[in-house]
Amino acid sequence: MKKYAMVIDTKSCVGCGDCVIACKTENLVPEGLHRDWIVEDVSGKFPNLNMEIRSERCNHCSNPPCVTYCPTGASYINRGTNIVLVNKSKCTGCKACIAACPYDARFIMPEGYVSKCTFCEHRVKKGLSPACASVCPTHSIDFGDVNESVSNVSKLLRKRKYKILIPEAGTRPNVYYLI
Ligand code: SF4
Ligand code: SF4
Ligand code: SF4
Repeated sequence: MKKYAMVIDTKSCVGCGDCVIACKTENLVPEGLHRDWIVEDVSGKFPNLNMEIRSERCNHCSNPPCVTYCPTGASYINRGTNIVLVNKSKCTGCKACIAACPYDARFIMPEGYVSKCTFCEHRVKKGLSPACASVCPTHSIDFGDVNESVSNVSKLLRKRKYKILIPEAGTRPNVYYLI
């Protein structure tokens, strides 16, 4: 079984937003809605300030509260790929998953169903990278199978220091940030 993950390098991301534009174009995300977004996280005290730039999206959690709290089974994990998806024909737009997600990764489409990042499953099935990863000018986004020890993502996670977002939520994210 595959376990797809994304590894994003906060040291090389320049916050250009090309990943956000590529996602909108690839996935026809309506105006004003986003499947991915850029966060500029400032820490420390003046004059010793540090800014981390992150391209964020759904974390494709292994323990996803959005799936647990979805009353219709519309939100689910594809057990073959570990990608968290929404079956729009089963989604009633009740927003329980939106309330349950600690990362604010979901939104309602104008048609009334919930949407979010799909790890570009339609591209991955064809052997392509997710749109955001494929356009990043600084090659800050890697995507692959962490169950495969020779994949780029596995190698990066062995070589570099990394973190996940809001670990205390217990969601077990599959988006990792190199720090
Ligand atoms: Fe950062 Fe790459 Fe996204 Fe630009 S495209 S914001 S460098 S992750
Ligand atoms: Fe669900 Fe949110 Fe985790 Fe994505 S980030 S799998 S929407 S809980
Ligand atoms: Fe958008 Fe695809 Fe990247 Fe997810 S993986 S943020 S759907 S481009």
